[in-house]
Amino acid sequence: MRKLPKALNEVIENLSRLPGIGPKSAARLGFYLLAVPDNFSEKLADSITNLKKKIKICRICFGVGEDDVCEICQDKQRNQKQICVIERADEVMAIESIGGYKGLYHVLGGVINPLDHVGPDDLKINELLSRVENDGIEEIILATNPTIEGEGTALYIKKKLEGINFKGKVTRIGSGLPMGAELGFADQVTLSRAFEGRREI
Ligand SMILES: [Zn+2]
Repeated sequence: MRKLPKALNEVIENLSRLPGIGPKSAARLGFYLLAVPDNFSEKLADSITNLKKKIKICRICFGVGEDDVCEICQDKQRNQKQICVIERADEVMAIESIGGYKGLYHVLGGVINPLDHVGPDDLKINELLSRVENDGIEEIILATNPTIEGEGTALYIKKKLEGINFKGKVTRIGSGLPMGAELGFADQVTLSRAFEGRREI
């Protein structure tokens, strides 16, 4: 295959590292960026640079925001006694989009996965336990994805909550989400049903 100019090749290589972008899509995007007439590629590059500079990780829930404590954690209108435990920060958006949930969140930063060398200590589980102990939490909704790792992580947290003698409700989001599905990609009706159908475990 004929070699591409270095700068173009570099863009394509970097784009192909993004989730869901294969080498072919990356090449198409690379050529597209080259061809756009205005300064779109500069704007795109700037916005990516700003992302790391301006966005902060909330020190309470580990979601994203512009301050040390995110807007959701600061919002006293929300139910401060309810925490929905999720894997990734983008899942906050998916759940917020259904509109029915008014509690707080806790982003684990992944799931326990021995094959990927991710253990409980690599996740924000201890931080969750201290929130539960210190903030008078009444319900923990375990909303990790319905994958083997997601289920395993939910059970692990459930055991840990028993270990600290948590007296509140521990619920797991309900069926409706197919096995292996990802919260961030579920449609609103399915997600809403999964939330309403949560059951105590
Ligand atoms: Zn927060």
